[in-house]
Amino acid sequence: MSRHDVIVIGAGFSGLSAATELMAQGLDVILLEARDRVGGRVESKLLADGARIDTGGQFLCRDMVELNALARAHGRAVTWAYVEGDEVFQPPISLTRGYEIWEGVEALREHIIRLDPTDPALKGLTVSQWIARQPGLDQDVASAFLRLIEGLWCRSPDEVSFAWLASTDSRITNEYSEMESFLATTMHALAEDVAATLGTRLKLSSPVKSIAHGPDGATVHTGDTTYEARRVIVSVPPVMASRITYDPPLPAPITNAFAAWGTGHCIKIFIRYATPFWRARGFSGTVMWSAPQGLYACDASREGNGGLADLFGLVMFIGGSFAKSWHGRPQSELETFIRTQLVTALGEEAGNIIELSIRDWTDDTWSGGAYSDDVIDPNAADPEAPLRLGHGPLRFASSELSPSYPGYIEGAIVMGRFAAREAVQDLAR
Ligand SMILES: Cc1cc2nc3c(=O)[nH]c(=O)nc-3n(C[C@H](O)[C@H](O)[C@H](O)COP(=O)(O)OP(=O)(O)OC[C@H]3O[C@@H](n4cnc5c(N)ncnc54)[C@H](O)[C@@H]3O)c2cc1C
Repeated sequence: MSRHDVIVIGAGFSGLSAATELMAQGLDVILLEARDRVGGRVESKLLADGARIDTGGQFLCRDMVELNALARAHGRAVTWAYVEGDEVFQPPISLTRGYEIWEGVEALREHIIRLDPTDPALKGLTVSQWIARQPGLDQDVASAFLRLIEGLWCRSPDEVSFAWLASTDSRITNEYSEMESFLATTMHALAEDVAATLGTRLKLSSPVKSIAHGPDGATVHTGDTTYEARRVIVSVPPVMASRITYDPPLPAPITNAFAAWGTGHCIKIFIRYATPFWRARGFSGTVMWSAPQGLYACDASREGNGGLADLFGLVMFIGGSFAKSWHGRPQSELETFIRTQLVTALGEEAGNIIELSIRDWTDDTWSGGAYSDDVIDPNAADPEAPLRLGHGPLRFASSELSPSYPGYIEGAIVMGRFAAREAVQDLAR
């Protein structure tokens, strides 16, 4: 059995950030990752000609200071997303009306982030129920808002807790579009950069099955190895954390908090084209569908990045109930569906697809789902607090629990470092 100061579980951006912070503080740390790769919900794949694309978390913006600083530190340049031209609404509506509706949605979001999420009047309400109680709300704005929530949080607004949404949204403070840029060499390459600094402290293919814990420390069991440490940081999303066995069982506030979370359902698709044909027609490449619900596409072409060949394409997201309804169905059916939707929105040229990459995150073995876990028990009172507090030698730290940008890569970095600093303080006591 090997003994350490701290064991970190999960090599997504939160676990990687926790482990590097602990290492920088001079502690003996080990990072256990279930998969044979790092990055968690940030991953990549190679297209037929070797071009690398992100199949998980990808985009960032200038407001995400920790992520930008990390990318700079590892020499990973950002590439700006193409945004010139008109957006396309499907089924078609006039651009004026389309933009008017989205202004209404933005105003609604501004209103929501100013609400007090602990207000007892919000308790027990789902997002749909809260919307239904807003007198005089334009019905198109209400519908667009509900679609946005399902697209962003990948669960039906009939399930998502309104108080949690208000709290979460108030911590996502970007002024610039969150899809403003991405890393030319992929976000996943950045995760690999960070992992490389850990050397042999990183153990891949080490799924943690159980944790025995007491006042002085914990013993962590993977399939075949046992590790001991004075502190453990569980850097996996809440639903995945709830699937680990704890001995003795965790106290009620933590198990109740676990039960409040559900996984999101999403499919991310990259559609490769020879040219960005939509631009010549005055389109930005952004397509927003009101039906089918939970469908969104935008330009994710990479061009003029020194040393890298140009890559043209759209990224498309299917989120929420609609993604769930596709889960397990033949890929050929989904490909036909995608092609048909894009041809309808952008014209015949959209049918000339060179390559299609589909990544279904629904029920993913080690993520549970994506983009993030959501609170789906509207009666749960602050199901983040008991997890942040942890129990004995255990702390929980995934992006979901972050004080800033929860559900984003930036949030994972912030939360991982936060938990690491707390562990350092605990050990100094
Ligand atoms: C398709 C998709 C698109 C997204 N787009 C964006 C985007 O554009 N911008 C953005 O900022 N965010 C995006 N996100 C969200 C972002 O990727 C996540 O918020 C962030 O990566 C979460 O990091 P994390 O470290 O908290 O969790 P994770 O990345 O989930 O890391 C947890 C790690 O723990 C491991 N693990 C789980 N259980 C165990 C166990 N029992 N034992 C050992 N290891 C275990 C997992 O394998 C995983 O590696 C996207 C996510 C997805 C899936």
